[in-house]
Amino acid sequence: MRIVLLGAPGAGKGTQCKRIVQRYGLLHLSSGDILRQQRAEGTSLGKKAQSYMDAGQLVPDQVVVQMMIDAIKKASAAGFILDGFPRTVNQAIELDDSLADNGQAVDAILNLQIDDRVVAERMTGRRSCPKCGAVYHVKNLRPKVDGICDNDSARLVQRYDDSLEVVAERLKTYHQQTEPVVDYYNNNGRAVFDVDANNGADEVSDLIFQKLDAIAEA
Ligand code: AMP
Repeated sequence: MRIVLLGAPGAGKGTQCKRIVQRYGLLHLSSGDILRQQRAEGTSLGKKAQSYMDAGQLVPDQVVVQMMIDAIKKASAAGFILDGFPRTVNQAIELDDSLADNGQAVDAILNLQIDDRVVAERMTGRRSCPKCGAVYHVKNLRPKVDGICDNDSARLVQRYDDSLEVVAERLKTYHQQTEPVVDYYNNNGRAVFDVDANNGADEVSDLIFQKLDAIAEA
């Protein structure tokens, strides 16, 4: 299966992707994770992306598209799930064209819908472990000891782009540039499956699994 998972930052794409990957054996390709990795390694791609990411803006298409098309090539026959890509209509078109060149297409488009208020609360309270990557929340998913990772006792950090100002900018960017991707797919006769992501993660997973099970069996 080849899946695109759309949704505002903070809608829970990462959490759902981990569960989907486990259930269907897909490769999880998160453009945000790949970009953060490139930054951490100090590659030229990472350096190009840095200022845009810190400002809550999108990294230019010409940087991201090739990076993701290269990553997709590493997927096995089982397929992949794209998390955070495509984020502009142009990226969606480039993705379609690249898959079509190999006689392929996206099988499912999932869209996590969430209120801006819920996003702001989730993201500004998010903390993560710099060592093992575990993610916590100051209210909803607290570690056993405040500010300390349960797994390895490392001090938890806030992601540089989870501050209130950057979250507001990321939401603005999402509404202006990424929401039109949903219209692009709908207008091209590609059904988008909307999922209410204001609900808890388990409820959201159940809805997604029902849909993907049906596609996998078809
Ligand atoms: P994320 O972890 O998906 O929220 O991504 C973090 C940041 O990486 C975003 O705020 C953007 O600056 C950048 N980014 C991730 N994916 C894309 C994409 N598909 N196109 C452009 N920029 C992206």
